[in-house]
Amino acid sequence: MWRNVIGIQMRAMSKSICVLFFFAVLTSFFPLPSSASDTVDVTDIRYWSFPEYTRVVINLTDHVKFSEKRLSSPDRLYFDLKNSRINTEMKNISVGNEMLKSVRAGQFDSSIVRIVLDLEKITDYKVLTLDDPARIVIDIYGQITFSVKKRIVLDPGHGGHDPGAVGRNNLYEKDVVLDIALKLRDILSGNQNYEIFLTRDKDVFIPLEERTAIANSKNADLFVSIHVNASPRSSAKGVETYMLNWTTDEEAMKVAARENAISLKKMRQMNEKEMDILDIIKNDLSRENKRDESIKLAHYIQNNLVRGLNRKHSHIVDLGVKQALFYVLFGAKMPSVLVEASFISNPLEEKLLSKDDYRRELAKSISAGITNYMSKSPEGQTVAGLKKNIAP
Ligand SMILES: [Zn+2]
Repeated sequence: MWRNVIGIQMRAMSKSICVLFFFAVLTSFFPLPSSASDTVDVTDIRYWSFPEYTRVVINLTDHVKFSEKRLSSPDRLYFDLKNSRINTEMKNISVGNEMLKSVRAGQFDSSIVRIVLDLEKITDYKVLTLDDPARIVIDIYGQITFSVKKRIVLDPGHGGHDPGAVGRNNLYEKDVVLDIALKLRDILSGNQNYEIFLTRDKDVFIPLEERTAIANSKNADLFVSIHVNASPRSSAKGVETYMLNWTTDEEAMKVAARENAISLKKMRQMNEKEMDILDIIKNDLSRENKRDESIKLAHYIQNNLVRGLNRKHSHIVDLGVKQALFYVLFGAKMPSVLVEASFISNPLEEKLLSKDDYRRELAKSISAGITNYMSKSPEGQTVAGLKKNIAP
């Protein structure tokens, strides 16, 4: 009776967080125990490499008593398994990540198998035993190096006593944009690299300056304010995306005046640099990279909106990326844009905006724009204070 075990396999973990490596420990044949001997065989040694920890699993034919010890210079952990055997000479499994250099296993003497973990830089380790099959699990913890988790604040405009623009068929901007933002949150939440916050998730009034303050207090990486447009000309239609800046464009000034709930006259004065607020804006625009990043973000969102909507609605007009002085974007410390997603004052677009699938299409397109932007923007710093997400 001879047994031959070869164990090299690779499997993808369910959430593709990591790749599971199986290593050949037993690569030649040896006799099975001839009786109910209490000698235990080490049948396999495997490891899983995660960003924040490395798991080493030692498979056995039965439970064993073992001792463990940590030694320094070089830093290593070893485990002596009593009444055990392993068929190979000391075997070196190279791991080579930030926590673990390698795992070595071998027959220390006639009844002890010694497993040595050559450590790199670890913060802690834990050992547990499991059944079916009997195995020893060693978790080695390193510094938490999560991939960057981006915080996105979505801001559905208006709310409560402020309906925003109102369509001819009595459709309210505040209701449309809330629904789009909720749909957008659901879509973006599917990406585990994002943390999504809303300035409001129900029909309440939030002052404009408070919305930006929410984004700043959340330390957000992006701020996206969602609105729908209105014009006295019922033929006006299309989508446009704004960033904060001075403008000489009369139409852009009108949009900002409406969203700021101020007169066009006051809006013009602001653009003529007659307002105290200008210092704040100057500060804002000089913030490192913010202006460039806002332009980039605006273009990704605008392009995806036009492309996404035109798949089903060929008449969507691309009004482009524009700039204007929106109160809601003042003082935002992160790239921030304001989306005007169709005209509620246009009968056809009001009808579309009243429909669930059009709102979903808007949310999907904005989401695609944000994701495109994120995938092209450079990685930021590691986010501190996140909980360890460790599989059982
Ligand atoms: Zn609005």
